[in-house]
Amino acid sequence: MTHSVYLMEMRPEDILLPTPAGLCCKPGGFHIDPTRVVERALITHAHSDHARAGHGAVLATQETLDMMRLRYGDNFAGATQAIRYGESVTMDGATVTFHPAGHVLGSAQIAVEANGLRIVASGDYKDVADPTCVPFELVPCDVFITEATFALPVFRHGDPDGEIAKLLRSVALFPERAHPVGAYSLGKAQRVIALLRKAGYTAPIYLHGAMEKITNYYVERGIALGELRLVRGAGKADLAGTITICPPSALTDLWTRRFPEPLAAFASGWMRVRARARQQGVTLPLVISDHADWDGLTATIAATGAGEIWVTHGQEDALVHWCRMRGLKARPLDIVGYGDEEEADEAASTDDEVS
Ligand SMILES: [Zn+2]
Ligand SMILES: [Zn+2]
Repeated sequence: MTHSVYLMEMRPEDILLPTPAGLCCKPGGFHIDPTRVVERALITHAHSDHARAGHGAVLATQETLDMMRLRYGDNFAGATQAIRYGESVTMDGATVTFHPAGHVLGSAQIAVEANGLRIVASGDYKDVADPTCVPFELVPCDVFITEATFALPVFRHGDPDGEIAKLLRSVALFPERAHPVGAYSLGKAQRVIALLRKAGYTAPIYLHGAMEKITNYYVERGIALGELRLVRGAGKADLAGTITICPPSALTDLWTRRFPEPLAAFASGWMRVRARARQQGVTLPLVISDHADWDGLTATIAATGAGEIWVTHGQEDALVHWCRMRGLKARPLDIVGYGDEEEADEAASTDDEVS
């Protein structure tokens, strides 16, 4: 009798508790995307602020495990277990199911169920089509944990095909110039290439060395990216009229001297902010994001049917306010260590390029 009363009074925080190390599931004995080393970690995707090395055991999709291995080496975790989308695993007192998040290859939302309550930790997500990953799946739940990277009404990403068309127009207009395109090395780079191919661009696309490993992995997993060449080894004259995908930081570095009259582009949701584009020396800002924009975030939150929303990772306040205005319970989660993953990834990956 007392037991059932206890069950009825179970709060979401009894299932998933925000701690300094990340979201902790006490009944299941695991953390989701922990920012510190833990015994058992469930990882939503391979971006470096979510996927860290050194955990005792890691449960994630095969793609996430493979990309962690590519970045951190074979001993990135004590033990690993791969899980497919739609598959459920019981971990002590909780059941977890992974669902596509539409963010990057292998990215997952993690649904945690215990005592009839379902909490979905979405990691990072986007609700728009992306030729390089499985589309976002809406998972009805009681509590939805959402990112808030672009959670201000000013962020409306628009149509990525239109942005790619801008790039192709510039290439056609300036056949003597090179177009280095800044893009984060995991996800964005491969998506930009796939979008160029979708737009009918068939010329070889050049890659900065920092993009090589992850891009080859996407190709191995069956993502068609057409002919790719490394910039390393190409002569300056060969690069006239070409497109090169590189880490955003490379745009402002001596590295660009190898190109004839480089015209710098940058593919990011942040390119909506003109000052940011100017600051990074970008002539051609391309608004292409792997995160949901304001409309995407609010539409997704409403569609989950969740009565309670936990907001993390970015501009929490505006989204918490929006939820409360709609009569939803909402709170920011102040988990230290989720930052601009993309900048962190960049720092990690530019080290690879020495030439
Ligand atoms: Zn991410
Ligand atoms: Zn993130």
